Amino acid sequence: MHYKSTRNSSICVSVSQAIAQGISTEGGLFVPEDFPHYSHTDLLELARCSYTERAERILSAFLSDFTAEEIHECVTAAYTNGKFEKDIPAPVTSLKNGIQMLELWHGPTCAFKDMALQLLPHLLTKSLQKIHSSKTALILVATSGDTGKAALEGFKDVDGTLIQVFYPQNGVSPMQKRQMCTQEGNNVAVCAIEGNFDDAQTGVKKIFTDPEIKRLLEQNKLMFSSANSINWGRLLPQIVYYFSAYCDLLANGKLQCAGEKINIVVPTGNFGNILAAYYAKKMGLPVHKLICASNSNNVLTEFINTGVYNRKREFYTTISPSMDILVSSNLERLLYDLTGKDCDRVAGWMNELASNGRYQVGEDVLHSLHELFFAGYCNDEETQKVIKQLYESEHYLCDTHTAVAVNVYEQYVKASKDTETPSVIVSTASPYKFADSVLSAVSEQYREDASEFDKIQELSNLTGVAVPPQIAELQTKAVRFRTICSRENMKEIVLKTAKIEPQA
Ligand SMILES: *Cc1c(COP(=O)(O)O)cnc(C)c1O
Repeated sequence: MHYKSTRNSSICVSVSQAIAQGISTEGGLFVPEDFPHYSHTDLLELARCSYTERAERILSAFLSDFTAEEIHECVTAAYTNGKFEKDIPAPVTSLKNGIQMLELWHGPTCAFKDMALQLLPHLLTKSLQKIHSSKTALILVATSGDTGKAALEGFKDVDGTLIQVFYPQNGVSPMQKRQMCTQEGNNVAVCAIEGNFDDAQTGVKKIFTDPEIKRLLEQNKLMFSSANSINWGRLLPQIVYYFSAYCDLLANGKLQCAGEKINIVVPTGNFGNILAAYYAKKMGLPVHKLICASNSNNVLTEFINTGVYNRKREFYTTISPSMDILVSSNLERLLYDLTGKDCDRVAGWMNELASNGRYQVGEDVLHSLHELFFAGYCNDEETQKVIKQLYESEHYLCDTHTAVAVNVYEQYVKASKDTETPSVIVSTASPYKFADSVLSAVSEQYREDASEFDKIQELSNLTGVAVPPQIAELQTKAVRFRTICSRENMKEIVLKTAKIEPQA
């Protein structure tokens, strides 16, 4: 299987090259040339498999230059041996009200990013071998909070890699910050930037395509790669859990037969997770609607509803910080698909976005968007209301991002009157990652000035939900990283991490 760039049809690479490189040289994203298809019989067969077997089967179609044995090694290393609670990476919890919660936060960092970032380092190191690179991979990450920690945890002390994470100084939760700044490992670096996530992401993309830095890296036997969802190796593992959730529902009788359609509701930021759901649908997973949930940064709601993408708007810092994004990178891959692989049109829109902050798609694309998606958003107050309601009615504690998805699902049901289709809501983080906002939603005696860890303990006392050990242990870990840089200085920070002397 070959991979093409979304912006230049003459670029065609192997999957190892796509994963090793992360992003195409002209700024486009790599996409597979075609997708395998799964019949209803295939789904029934997958339903009898374990998560790792499901992953191996789905990955093998895309990782065409990996052997079955190599894929088995990667998948086993990522998803077994206690990496995920009870060795169940993506359990589905059924609520009394009929909603199915696909919980993707039982991994090492308590957010869904672990699903991909536990696997990516294995895919990447094997990809580097395959393209005969003896270079060290320098992984650059821009994070809105959760990717940074999950990438650090995935790549720590992995031979042949160095990782540099940039996070927005005032744009992550205290727990997210603590998780990153206490990170252990000899190949890791973390830096706050004066700006928001989009500034971090733009800065990282600029460094990726900076010819001067590229030359310096080459002289020093280094190459860039990406652990953000612009890397195909990040998206691919995410397709698996949509199939897995469907198979679980088949296996436990929540679905009547293979072929019955489900709705999938995804709290969305960079459009990676919901794009993986779209790809699953394209591959034959029976999906009725993909429901795209945003917080007050509702650029995607507007885009899906009107066809106008406009990042020139107020930026809100919300209680669901991992969705505080105005430039959703992976939308580019969807547009490539919906235009029938028209890379010139896609490149045109992306140029307009970069220069004017806005673009508008045509009626054809808008029509497909409406067929496939429902989009909505909610603000912080509504988010907290959902957390409280769900806790009181179901005794189910969800985090702020998941709550946004629950709210938008309710909007969908109201607007469409679709009460029949079984719906899977993607639960993307442990409530303990955002304990402050969750506690203030459910507690009558919330004290704002209590310490983060006191709030965590109180949340646990109140709800009886255990604190994940990987969060509890952070309380006593030493802070290793305190650097803050301006947007202009990100380049210097990267060179320092790479141990390259600045040149005059
Ligand atoms: C990253 C993240 C999201 C958004 O996912 P995208 O793939 O960027 O759309 C939602 N919730 C949580 C908890 C996250 O960490």
